[in-house]
Amino acid sequence: QAKQSRAGGYHFHSPALSRKLRERRLLEQDLRQAHAQQQFRLDYQPLVYLGSGQVSGGEALLRWHRPGHGNMPPDLFIPLLEETGLIVPVGAWVLETACREAARWPARMSVAVNVSTIQFRKPGLCEAVEGALRSSGLPAHRLELEITESVLLHDTPETLATLQRLRKIGVRIAMDDFGTGYSSLSYLHHFAFDKIKIDRSFVQRMAQDPNAKAVIRAVVNISQTLGIRALAEGVENAEQAEVLRQEGCAEVQGYLFGRPMPPEQFAALHARLRRPA
Ligand code: C2E
Ligand code: MG
Ligand code: MG
Ligand code: MG
Repeated sequence: QAKQSRAGGYHFHSPALSRKLRERRLLEQDLRQAHAQQQFRLDYQPLVYLGSGQVSGGEALLRWHRPGHGNMPPDLFIPLLEETGLIVPVGAWVLETACREAARWPARMSVAVNVSTIQFRKPGLCEAVEGALRSSGLPAHRLELEITESVLLHDTPETLATLQRLRKIGVRIAMDDFGTGYSSLSYLHHFAFDKIKIDRSFVQRMAQDPNAKAVIRAVVNISQTLGIRALAEGVENAEQAEVLRQEGCAEVQGYLFGRPMPPEQFAALHARLRRPA
């Protein structure tokens, strides 16, 4: 265990390690401030029907401009939000904000919100969801919660109860980054998931790796049988889109169709797509 000296340094640690710990502490401090001072923003990335090109909705993605450091990638700060428990209030803010902004979109469009496994296991998630729906007026079926396979890793009565409560509220549930964890398609059926988001690593390897393409094909086919929607993540070029179309994948997301963008820009994008071609 590290012991802090009066000078603020650490005994028993190499200089590199104590620098890391110091940076981590500063990041944690800045994250607490970020929440208190409302420095977080959401970008939205379009989810698109491959057949019609219509935007089915947008995924809310957390953005943080850290003062003096610039934009911080979520993969870097979300783990720390989880470790500190800050993910609970920040996650509630994400739900509130995403629902409020999505309530102004056309009624056929839904909003997808990422829910961390930590946030899922802590009490209060269902209340936060209900609160966000109530204050925004967004109909429950237009909110989709994205959870990852690690939620199902603990197949406890609590996990099942939370999923059932969310279902009763009427929100949709999507499995994010499918294929990177351990859950099976029968599991997703058992828990009545609405959507499977096939992880972008499969889309990226698809062209060179026949196995990756076989996985996509299998997931698309079984999802059709089970009545679960399939979306492919990380579509970056027209070749990938074409293969996915051939495989019968109905929905896509990726830089080819639109990068994550600020809410005003997202509103303008769907306003344009709404006009008949
Ligand atoms: P995710 O939920 O799988 O979100 C998709 C990520 O893929 C986003 O990264 C998006 O910018 C990126 N992406 C989209 N299209 C493409 C593409 O064509 N190519 C490539 N290379 N990447 C693409 P981002 O915004 O950096 O977010 C990373 C992760 O952080 C998210 O992965 C999600 O797990 C987490 N995250 C983001 N916002 C939130 C949030 O509000 N709450 C929670 N709990 N997690 C969040
Ligand atoms: Mg996601
Ligand atoms: Mg994903
Ligand atoms: Mg991801």
